[in-house]
Amino acid sequence: MPNIYSLKNKTIWVAGHEGLVGSAVVRLLEAQGYEVLTVARAGLDLRDQSAVQRWMGAHKPDVVVLAAAKVGGIGANMAVPAEFIYDNLMIEANVIHGAYVCEVEKLLFLGSSCIYPKDAQSPIKEDALMSGALEPSNAPYAVAKIAGIEMCKAYRAQYGCDFISAMPCNLYGPNDNFDLESGHVIPALMAKAHGAKLAGDNVLSVWGSGRPRREFLYSNDLAAALLVLLEHYSGAAPVNVGTGEDISIAALAKEIKHVTGFEGTLEFRADKPDGVFEKRLDTGIIRSLGWAPQTSLQDGLALLYQWYQARHIKIS
Ligand code: GDP
Repeated sequence: MPNIYSLKNKTIWVAGHEGLVGSAVVRLLEAQGYEVLTVARAGLDLRDQSAVQRWMGAHKPDVVVLAAAKVGGIGANMAVPAEFIYDNLMIEANVIHGAYVCEVEKLLFLGSSCIYPKDAQSPIKEDALMSGALEPSNAPYAVAKIAGIEMCKAYRAQYGCDFISAMPCNLYGPNDNFDLESGHVIPALMAKAHGAKLAGDNVLSVWGSGRPRREFLYSNDLAAALLVLLEHYSGAAPVNVGTGEDISIAALAKEIKHVTGFEGTLEFRADKPDGVFEKRLDTGIIRSLGWAPQTSLQDGLALLYQWYQARHIKIS
């Protein structure tokens, strides 16, 4: 498929390169020989408008991948909702407006499948966005992410900016947050299972009923999809990225038992939230652009566990 935009010889800023998504995008771009611009979180606060404008004006990126965001699992979303709405609104407003001011040629913004309405019918098509009420446990995050998508659309409509949005399903991979309280389900359960195995504990605590279903994509596969979108997509509508297949949390917990070698039992915690019951994406558009996931859930979990163990041993 011919490119509609070429990344060749472009300066590509990956905002949020220390995180799960950003680090995967950087690995892929560098492996393909592209010039990648990054700035450490400690060196630039993306919530600070004048600092962002100054930095972008000085570095003049041609392309921006906006992977920086305040993210977390259902626990974190419910514990610090003000940070989820404020940090994300500020980051998006500053970077997207900054990209317009600095005449960035292409910007890719990341939404999330959890910003679709809570009752959206699976497989969820892109046009389900804003067609119903949001899941209350992450509504502040969702409102901020919807604002980012609307900004991309508005800057495209008013100023002709080539700003696009992707809507990934639940993601996992290196550089994820393994904190037991604030992390997403895969890193949290992996860290719990690993800790239980080492401590000789017999029980792995799984939040909720185990019946909700989630669709998981390995971060390297997302990075490949984002490159496809940068080079082959230009449109106002966000594009879903996922495997198109989901798994119950109970079945996921069994896979994590298997990969970590934890041999105890699963305990489902009814006092913890389930969140949305189902949110499987329709992935027809991204597949029509020639992308397909390459990493099975079993392989991805094994890769992540290797990464986690190497890091865990280094730290401890
Ligand atoms: P969500 O897709 O935004 O709900 O993100 P999460 O990854 O936080 O949660 C996905 C599902 O996994 C929810 O139904 C959680 O209740 C369930 N879950 C089970 N155990 C855990 C855990 O230890 N941590 C988290 N975050 N979720 C868990």
